[in-house]
Formats: sequence, structure tokens, C-alpha cells
Amino acid sequence: TVGAIGYGVYEIYNKRHPLEQKPFDPKKRTVVVLGSGWGAVSFLKSINTDDYNVMVVSPRNYFLFTPLLPSCTVGTIELRSIMEPIRFITQHKSRNVKFYESECTDIDPESKTIRITDVSDIKGSVSNTTIPYDYLVMAIGADNQTFGMAGVREFACFLKEVWDAQKIRTRLMDCVESAGFAKQAPEEVNRLLHMVVVGGGPTGVEYAAELHDFLKDDLEVWYPELADKFRITLVEALPNVLPMFSSQLIQYTESTFKQNKIEVLTKTMVKEVADKEIKVMDANKNLVSIPYGLLVWATGNCPRPLARKLMARLKESQTSPRGVLVDDYMRVAGAPDVYAIGDCTFSKYAPTAQVATQQGLYLASVFESLARIEEGQNKKITPFEYSHQGSLAYIGSDKAIADLPFLNGNVSVGGVATYVFWRSVYISNMFSFRNRFLVVGDWMKSKVFGRDVSR
Ligand code: FAD
Ligand code: NAD
Repeated sequence: TVGAIGYGVYEIYNKRHPLEQKPFDPKKRTVVVLGSGWGAVSFLKSINTDDYNVMVVSPRNYFLFTPLLPSCTVGTIELRSIMEPIRFITQHKSRNVKFYESECTDIDPESKTIRITDVSDIKGSVSNTTIPYDYLVMAIGADNQTFGMAGVREFACFLKEVWDAQKIRTRLMDCVESAGFAKQAPEEVNRLLHMVVVGGGPTGVEYAAELHDFLKDDLEVWYPELADKFRITLVEALPNVLPMFSSQLIQYTESTFKQNKIEVLTKTMVKEVADKEIKVMDANKNLVSIPYGLLVWATGNCPRPLARKLMARLKESQTSPRGVLVDDYMRVAGAPDVYAIGDCTFSKYAPTAQVATQQGLYLASVFESLARIEEGQNKKITPFEYSHQGSLAYIGSDKAIADLPFLNGNVSVGGVATYVFWRSVYISNMFSFRNRFLVVGDWMKSKVFGRDVSR
């Protein structure tokens, strides 16, 4: 905590106005970074702009602290508190970093160029262009996995981006207000107040946990006539939730959910999605209909269209459909001078912020070494090595679980004390003092005044 506050003070005093930063130098090599998420921002924070011109291309002009996104769906934390403008992040660099809010639609490793498209609704006379690069860093993350199932994109809500959290919040409050509408049919009340979460990975579990807290602490207080009708169901295809946690913590989570009246349907696979119900294959291989008001879809990741396009172009070297293949130095197989980090890659680690951050930091150190080697110094570039710092998840009612590495082994802990630890870890992992300040303020605000139940 002391380190985080100290760094915050340093950040405030060390910011530069863009005009005080050095301009692009045509004699330096240009690194183009695709993305403004975990991988891209940890790379940007560490890259030495005395050595390179740096340009960032991303459809979002901000970084999003995803671990606290489930808290935003219920208003424990406000979305703006976990967003950080990219320009705030690059204001600490010695050289100005160019940012284009646009989507990269094509990478041509032969001509070393990318195509970019303006993503804003209001466009100028130029909205597509080609940009050359010397080095390209792909940190474009991943898409939501739907397995091509009809109805998922149309009727379900994902939980990855700011607009997903806004959509969930609006739909949830719509369901509650419609259930309370005059003379509403009882079976419709039951359907509208049935919130179904698909996927028992950490995203689905954390969302179900936050939703439970919101129902218990706030909605049941403000809507007493509906209080006994709210239901949460979590559907998971595997025999248990959270397969990456120890069996002890899986049991602890499942028993906490039972106490909290969150129904967990394991060995149950969603087969069809319609506007008011899903069809699932249950543990006994029966096809069962489940009516819902709100459907949240959290069944993991798949490659984005840009990653798929590059993989198809380099099909001789890109042999996995699950993500961009890189070597131990994060170099994209088959594309010289193109690097990839984070969720867009196919790697032996789980697609987490922890992995993306370490890869971003590593890649910045590789670029530092490349610059020194070019100056004639003797530098050895070592391969990337992942250091697992543990896994954490919030499970509701002020309880969290943690699997932490300890003395060549693992410690599994869960409960209220772990929740305090969970909060302190996330606060210290935030990229800016401003975000830390806003999040702590939001936690205090929701404790004192309750969560906002407006739509
Ligand atoms: P992202 O952070 O997703 O960033 C991708 C960036 O690329 C975005 O800025 C996007 O706009 C941009 N982009 C997309 N397409 C293009 C394009 N064509 N051109 C240019 N830019 C593009 N991990 C943990 O370790 N701990 C947690 O507690 C945790 N909690 C999570 C909670 C939730 C709700 C979610 C969804 C994820 C969570 N994760 C957590 C996982 C973590 O968020 C991801 O692993 C991490 O974001 C991956 O970083 P990334 O940089 O690869 O991708
Ligand atoms: P995930 O891949 O971890 O879990 C998805 C789950 O959905 C799986 O358990 C899968 O069996 C289930 N599933 C798939 N298809 C299904 C179907 N048709 N019906 C029912 N269940 C189905 O995905 P996630 O939870 O979105 O997480 C994505 C990544 O982000 C993971 O690497 C995760 O570790 C990371 N993450 C970490 C945290 C944390 O550390 N607290 C929080 C959120 C996400």
C-alpha cells in the first residue's frame, strides 16, 4: 500500500504536457502497439521512448481494469473509476506517444504495414488508412466464445467491456421494473426475476456473486413485494465450477453459493438460446427449458477476427486455431518483427491479466536490449518466463477465495479476511493513483448509501 501511494505521488508530479515531450524522431525505429488493455499498457508503461517512436492503435482510448468490471454491473463501483485514458498513461513518457482511436483490420507482414479504420460514429473525410511499422506489438485480446450458437449474441449479455456492464445493468433493472408492473402475470414475474449465468469460470462466478449481493443488500429492500421471487442460476458444463482452483476452494465456493441460494447446475450444457428461455442438456442427458429474464454469457475466449486473418495469412507457421502462435520471445511464428502478447496468443498459460502484464513488461525489456545491441553493446535476450502469483476470486457475501504459491507449494484460503486481501491486491494492482482513489471512494459510497437502483 505504501509503495502504491508513493508511486501515485510520483505519477502526479512526473506528468508532462504533450508539448513538453520530445516529438517523433525519423531516425528512430517506430513501434506500433495494437490494443490498450493489460498487455499493451504494461508494455507502454515500461518501453523506453528515448529509444523508439511509439504509436498506439486501439478502438478504445482507455485502459479498463477488468477484475473490477463485475462490481460495475451492480453499481458497487462506477465504470469511470476503473477506466484510465491512454493519454493519461503516456503523459509520463519522455517522447510523445501517438494514439489513434481505430481498429486494425489487416496486418501485412511483408510490406510491414497495417490497415486501420476509425471506429467512431462521427467520421472525418479520412476514415481508413495504412500505417508502416518497424516493429508491431499485437495485444488485441480475445473475443467472447459463443461456439457459433444462434441467439447468444442477440439475446445474451457478455461481460468483457464497459458497454457490456452497462447493458447488464440496464437489462437487470428493466427486468425488475417490468416484474413490478401493475397486474403482471405471476409466471412472467418468475421469469423476469430469474437471472441465468452461463459458464462457471471466474467471470460467471464473480458476476453471480456480485448479483447476489445486489439482490440481498439493495433490491430486496427497495422491492419488498418481489423479494422472495428473485432467483440466480449458474449453468456449467463441467462437473464443477472454477476448475483452476483447488478442490477445497471449489467446495467452499459451491457451499457458499448454496447458502446464498444461488443454484449451481453442473454437468449441464446450454444447447439453444432464445429470447425468453434457454434449452440445456442436463446431467441425465435430458433437454430442459429454463425461462430467464437476464442471461449473462461467460463461456471463455476465442480469437478475434484480426488474429484469425493473420493466422490464415501465415497458415504454414500458424498451426493452432486457438490463438496466435508465438515463440518463447513473444515473436509471432512466420511474421518477422511482429510480436504478440496476452489473450490473443495461444500459450501454455491461462489467458489472464497476470500473464498479459508479465508479457508486456518482458517485451519492453526485450526492446531495451535490442536498442542496446544496435548501439554495439553485448546484451543477451533471455526467453519469457511466467511467474504465477496466485489466483483470486470474489464469491459473494464479503467472501473471496485465493490459491497462493507458498514455499514450493500452494496455500488455499477463503472467507472474509481473504476478501480484504482481494481488495488490497486489486487496489495495489491498479495502474494509476487516480483509479485507486476513485475505487476506494466508490466502496465507501456504496457502504454508506447503498447501491444506486436507478436504471
Ligand atoms: P485486453 O485487456 O482485452 O485488451 C485488448 C485491447 O485490444 C483492447 O484495448 C481492445 O479494445 C483492443 N483491440 C481489440 N481489437 C483490436 C484491433 N482490431 N485493433 C487494435 N486494437 C484492438 N485476469 C486476472 O489475471 N485476474 C482477474 O481478476 C481477472 N478478472 C477478469 C474479470 C473479467 C470480467 C474479465 C472479462 C476478465 C478478467 N481477467 C482477469 C482476464 C483479463 O482481463 C485478460 O486476461 C486481460 O484483459 C488480457 O489482456 P490483453 O491485453 O491480452 O487483452
Ligand atoms: P473460462 O474459460 O475460465 O470458463 C468458461 C466456463 O464456461 C468453462 O468452465 C466451461 O466449461 C463453461 N462452458 C462453456 N460452454 C458452456 C455451455 N455451452 N454451457 C455451460 N457451460 C459452458 O472463461 P471466463 O470465466 O470467461 O474467464 C476467461 C479468462 O479470464 C480465464 O483465463 C480466467 O482465468 C480469466 N479471469 C480471471 C478472473 C480472476 O482471476 N478472478 C476473473 C475473470 C476472468
